[in-house]
Amino acid sequence: MQTVNVLGSKYKLVESNSGKDVILERADGYCDNTTKTLVIKNLLPEPNSLGNLSEYKKRVVRHEIIHAFLFESGLAGESWADNEEIVDWIAYQFPKLLQAFQSANAL
Ligand SMILES: [Zn+2]
Repeated sequence: MQTVNVLGSKYKLVESNSGKDVILERADGYCDNTTKTLVIKNLLPEPNSLGNLSEYKKRVVRHEIIHAFLFESGLAGESWADNEEIVDWIAYQFPKLLQAFQSANAL
């Protein structure tokens, strides 16, 4: 089983589907900070699915990891850290931020 180190806490990274996990009926992934588990929906191509599911899945994994980092930082509940828009923004833009930091020798 794959794990991700989140500020010293070990989070399991698992794939599942809506048949096994009812939460995945309404989400493509979630971070369960009570069990330290990042659950990602096993997305299969369908007629109306996105064209690049592997890229989308990576974005979902980044999104859930960011939730875990925010939780482990004490930033959960009633704060900007619960705002899905900012979590999504970081998840979407992080590869470009990393590239910019690297090109500026800022790491
Ligand atoms: Zn989220």
